[in-house]
Amino acid sequence: MLPARSTIGILGGGQLGRMLAVAALQLGYRVIGYAPAGDNVAADACTAFITADWDDAAALAEFAAACDVVTWEFENVPISTVAAIPQPRLACPLRALEVAQNRFHEKQFIAELGGTPAPYTRVESEADFAAAITRIGTPGILKTARDGYDGKGQWRVRSALEAGGVRLPGVTCIYEGFVTYETEFSVILVRGQDGAIRFWDSTANLHDGGMLTQSVLPAGALVEAQVPAARELAAKTANALGYVGVLTLEFFATRNGPVFNEMAPRVHNSGHWTIEGAATSQFENHIRAICGLPLGGTATRFEAIDMRNIVGDAALTAHRILAEPGEPHLHLYGKREAREGRKMGHVTRVGHALK
Ligand code: AMP
Repeated sequence: MLPARSTIGILGGGQLGRMLAVAALQLGYRVIGYAPAGDNVAADACTAFITADWDDAAALAEFAAACDVVTWEFENVPISTVAAIPQPRLACPLRALEVAQNRFHEKQFIAELGGTPAPYTRVESEADFAAAITRIGTPGILKTARDGYDGKGQWRVRSALEAGGVRLPGVTCIYEGFVTYETEFSVILVRGQDGAIRFWDSTANLHDGGMLTQSVLPAGALVEAQVPAARELAAKTANALGYVGVLTLEFFATRNGPVFNEMAPRVHNSGHWTIEGAATSQFENHIRAICGLPLGGTATRFEAIDMRNIVGDAALTAHRILAEPGEPHLHLYGKREAREGRKMGHVTRVGHALK
């Protein structure tokens, strides 16, 4: 168990890091963040923050030496950066990051554990793409194998004719069949150092243009019926990786059961509701897990939950939201620039069923 005033290192400087840091400070820890120059909103909540490139060996050595345990809030931290941290200090296994960074490996890994991903194939060339369209058909989605998030690096292909007009991005891609689903949902679990696993309730997740916009509970009968199988796969994944901390798996609820979409070896946007809505938040339980503290309960405390992202102009939206009835819980991330499509904050409403 890591004593109070020990130092937790967080790789990545976004809002997930910010909320992890708040949870860590509450538990009496110090936090050092590390990320390349940018709008690192985690820095506001950190005891110290190192702004340096991912490949800055001297800065990384300084960071690692100052930390008792290191975690990440961003799954695209280069493997070489994480490998530079002495392994005993790494809270979560490097393998989890390796698997999650490549959509191809991720789907293969999950399929080997008995999960069902959408039909997929690797695309390196025009010939591969043509073969993929023939084998998997349309509609489908072409995705870069690496570095995709929030719908970036994705191209929908509605027909074979449309496929002819798609220009490959020049990096390894995968092409996957479009899944016809009723709802999207996620399984978020926390696994302790002793291997014990706890799950939060699964929300129904709504997306717009590939980006999460809303998470709601109750998630509906179809999701509820598919949660046990999805949880079993998520637990197998966490166990196979020897994972410690919060792990997220995203699914499509289809008529034929849960189809695996992707995993995130970290706290997740669809778990933000747990701050107000669950006995212990995903952020606090991640910190507890990596510090070897007893895990907190994950039960939902309300009949209904509604978490919505604030995308774009946070200031205007915040004013409007706070004037609304129903005790909205507003979280703004302190980002400097409200670019279109940028997650600026979120608002969680708890209580009885909401429309
Ligand atoms: P991803 O980055 O892979 O999670 O994709 C972002 C979002 O795009 C998902 O949450 C879905 O809403 C949509 N999407 C991605 N892949 C598929 C698919 N194979 N079939 C249907 N929708 C998809």
